[in-house]
Amino acid sequence: MLQRREFLTGLLATTTTLRSRDAAAQQAAAGVFFERAAQGTPHKGKVLLAVQAHSDDIPLMSAGTVAKLVKEGYTGYLLRATNDDMGDARGLGTAGTVGENVLGNERDNDEVARALGLKRVFNFGYPNHKMGDVSLNELICRLILLIRALKVDTVVCWDPWAHDEENPDHYMTARGVEAACWMAGRDHDYPEQFVAGLEPYEVRDKYYFARRPEITRVVDISAVVDRKIEANRANRAKGPGGHHGSRLRAELAKKGQRLPLLGDDDATADRNYIKEFLLTRNRELGKQYGVEYAEAFHYVRPGASGASGPSTEEYIRKNVVPR
Ligand SMILES: [Zn+2]
Repeated sequence: MLQRREFLTGLLATTTTLRSRDAAAQQAAAGVFFERAAQGTPHKGKVLLAVQAHSDDIPLMSAGTVAKLVKEGYTGYLLRATNDDMGDARGLGTAGTVGENVLGNERDNDEVARALGLKRVFNFGYPNHKMGDVSLNELICRLILLIRALKVDTVVCWDPWAHDEENPDHYMTARGVEAACWMAGRDHDYPEQFVAGLEPYEVRDKYYFARRPEITRVVDISAVVDRKIEANRANRAKGPGGHHGSRLRAELAKKGQRLPLLGDDDATADRNYIKEFLLTRNRELGKQYGVEYAEAFHYVRPGASGASGPSTEEYIRKNVVPR
């Protein structure tokens, strides 16, 4: 009897938890689409271009979603707009000269692509933090060529118009992407590219991430969170993931101390450090939707850039009468 009462109490507690989770999910879901993990590879045949200004942008902001889309069938490519020569803030990455930063981040960026299952890396090589006055038309033209050549269906990138963005590389890259996604599908934009065998190709949908996002889509990344951790572990020159965990473990050991969180070897220390300290926002967002980890986006759906409302064809079909 006691066992049964305990069982019932447990069941009641579980039901209450589920109910409050549902309520939280519904509340959080007002106007927001919650993208769950898909079965199989529904995106097979489609192409994803993950665009970042710096080697740590995608790892920190959207690596889970990139890994999820690749797992669900996308062929993915990674584009990095700058040469990352500025390194990062004091104490965040590996201290080095400008030249060392370029090489370190280039190698890390290649490793990020490998960790996320992306097929190839493209580097535009603009100087770090100096994109404020690069030619927007040149950037757009380079992006259009890439979109047409790879036949890009979907992009993941910084939000071109988000609040609180401080880094000119982020918003310039994003503004180039926004324009190129649309212009790449038009006959009269850079038609000389068609001589090389390219054809107009419009990007269908966009996942824009930001420091303070206008959230229209939340993506469940729980099943691929290990990929996100590996992408951040690849950022050694820049951080804030990289080898921070193992470095902290070594510093504590010198003082005769240890953190159980950091485990018994360097790789575990790096991974658990990233999971605990870098994925806090992903964990908090996931909790609101009843999953372990999630990422937030301003998502632009297919056709959103064109005229809205019923099409001319649809109107004719519904209203046409014999003469
Ligand atoms: Zn950045």
